[in-house]
Amino acid sequence: MVSKPHKLHIYFFPMIASGHLIPMVDMARLFAQRGVKATIILTPFNAALFSKTIERDRELGLETSIRLINFPFAEVGMPEGCENLSSITSPEMFPKIFKATELLQQPLEKLLEEDRPDCLVADMYFPWATEVASKHGIPRLAFHGTGAYALCVHHVISQQEPYKNVESDSEVFTVPDLPDTITMTKRQLPDHIRDGTKNHMEKFIEKVTEAEMKSYGVLVNSFHELEPAYSEYYKEVVGRRTWHIGPVSLSNRDNEDKARRGNKTSIDEHECLSWLASKKPNSVLYVCFGSLSSFSTAQLLEIAMGLEASGQQFIWVVRKDKSKEKENEEWLPEAFEQRLEGRGIIIRGWAPQVLILDHESVGGFMTHCGWNSILEGVTAGVPMITWPHFAEQFYNEKLVTNILRVGVGVGAQEWCRWPDDCKIYVKKEDIEKAVAQLMDSEEAEETRSRAKALGAMAKKAVEKGGSSYSDLSAFLEELELNRN
Ligand code: UDP
Repeated sequence: MVSKPHKLHIYFFPMIASGHLIPMVDMARLFAQRGVKATIILTPFNAALFSKTIERDRELGLETSIRLINFPFAEVGMPEGCENLSSITSPEMFPKIFKATELLQQPLEKLLEEDRPDCLVADMYFPWATEVASKHGIPRLAFHGTGAYALCVHHVISQQEPYKNVESDSEVFTVPDLPDTITMTKRQLPDHIRDGTKNHMEKFIEKVTEAEMKSYGVLVNSFHELEPAYSEYYKEVVGRRTWHIGPVSLSNRDNEDKARRGNKTSIDEHECLSWLASKKPNSVLYVCFGSLSSFSTAQLLEIAMGLEASGQQFIWVVRKDKSKEKENEEWLPEAFEQRLEGRGIIIRGWAPQVLILDHESVGGFMTHCGWNSILEGVTAGVPMITWPHFAEQFYNEKLVTNILRVGVGVGAQEWCRWPDDCKIYVKKEDIEKAVAQLMDSEEAEETRSRAKALGAMAKKAVEKGGSSYSDLSAFLEELELNRN
């Protein structure tokens, strides 16, 4: 009798930052929904953020599980419990987290030895994963957390260095040879590129690129119709095998899944939904800047004043900055919340973002242009106000405002990782103007209908026969054929 082959078993190994953990857990769950045995490798603090969701999937019969590896607190000198990029409180902790990611190699290898999966999907932040996978005779897939468009812009900027032809930080240059005209200033580029010297980050990115070139290919959380020219460019010009399998956030099927996604929310989901239900369709602006960005007190004050002056209804998520926890709330104008009661809500901490975006009352999203947030806005069919801060967010802004034309920029000019380093503020008047333009202007209707059309495309992409569904099928078939 021929024995039935075991289910394809795939390991998912995310970077320890919410913007990477959340989509990779979604991705693992999506694979499990397609009949794969999915194992997610997490450190204990991060595992606790997802364990209920995974338990729920298992009750539904899906073969998703978590395997734990310990975070090397003592070895890197980090305080206990601080094992996620969003919990770091100072720039000095950043390299320690990076050091910790290198030390995860041995424990991962031990698990691979025990479980012998058929494939390893590992975050780009683990360049050593390609060699580890090859040592175990399995393919390594890379995951960047961003879309093909930003990967192409990054590729051209790092290969051709067009920013070297300008004379000042504010002079505009064009990123050459791309399917669209993308203009930037040097001030909007990551500091490791701007510096011109090969710092630690630059060298690390070189390792990442090398490991990606040797890997089996790249899984992209995006869908072909969103960035067709760039999905081709990444394959043909950059030269990688890619599969567009997103938006992976659509693996969250109901409100319970959406409300629990990625962290414990700082607002009761029912309270949030009933507040939204009391508002007219498309009338609320959702303001959130992801899991890492934070602002100085002066900048928060400008946001508060801009939102108040806009006259619009809003939900504003203000990330708790652990280093400033003891400070009082001087970032709010006097009696702000009393004055705006009923018109606006402030969520201090973590919001159920996808649940909010998917509500019909939400008609705009002010975002820092993290890729997950953009994709979640696109999927919900919500137009955006773009306010990039760092990472590849300035590239993403151009996709939203210039290529897809589903948003307006607030006028951010400066790439800035830490609020204390920012020299240029976005003023209350700029915020008020962008909000009016997005929510209440002549062109707002057209922008909204383009956003709605994209949202419909996103949902179609993951349905049976859709582009992402088919890309994932093709990938799984190939793995099935090639496995030992
Ligand atoms: N997120 C959330 N609630 C929050 C803040 C963030 O659910 O209050 C989620 C958001 O939905 C997204 C992720 O955290 O999935 C943030 O990823 P993104 O790429 O947008 O930005 P990053 O945090 O990496 O800068």
